[in-house]
Amino acid sequence: MKIKAVYPGSFDPITNGHIYIAERAAAIFDEVIVSVLVNERKNAAFTVKERCEMAKESLNHIQNISIDSFNGLLVDYVRHIGASVIIRGLRAMSDFEYEFQMALMNRRLAPEIETFFIVTDPKYSYVSSSSVREIFHFGGSVEGVVPDYVLEKLKAHYH
Ligand code: ADP
Repeated sequence: MKIKAVYPGSFDPITNGHIYIAERAAAIFDEVIVSVLVNERKNAAFTVKERCEMAKESLNHIQNISIDSFNGLLVDYVRHIGASVIIRGLRAMSDFEYEFQMALMNRRLAPEIETFFIVTDPKYSYVSSSSVREIFHFGGSVEGVVPDYVLEKLKAHYH
C-alpha cells in the first residue's frame, strides 16, 4: 500500500527548515504533498500563489513531492485527497505544546489519520518564516536560511 502524507503549513515563505522536513518525509513516505494553508484571517506577506511557487521551486529536486493548497479543516482535506499521514516539524519544546494539542484534536476528528513528527536539524532550530521576514525587512542577512529563489522573491517583495 502506498502511503500519502501531507505536510501542511503557512510557508510564508518556505525556509531551509521546512525543506529539511520535507526531504526527510519524502525519504519515508511514497508521496508527500506540501500544502499551503489558505488562511484569510492571518495576514500573510506572500499570496498563496507566490507561496506555492516558492515551495515548488525549492522542492523540485525531490521526485515524490508535490505542492498544493487548501482551506478549511485540515483533516477534511487530508481525507479528500486520500492521504493518511500529517507531517509536522519540531524545532523546540515551544513547538511541542501547540503541535501536541493540534495532533490530539485532529485525532479526535479523524482517528484514522496519523500525525508524524520530524525533528529539525539543530542548524534550523531557530529558523521560522516570521523571523526570516523580520530580519530581511530590517536589512539582516537570511542567506543560508532560505533558498536563493526565495531570497530573490524577498528582495522583490520588500525592496
Ligand atoms: P504553521 O503556520 O502551520 O505553523 P509554518 O509554515 O510556520 O506553518 O510551519 C509548518 C510546519 O513546519 C510546522 O510543523 C512547523 O513546526 C514546521 N517548521 C517550521 N520551521 C521549521 C524549522 N526551521 N525546522 C523544522 N520544522 C519547522
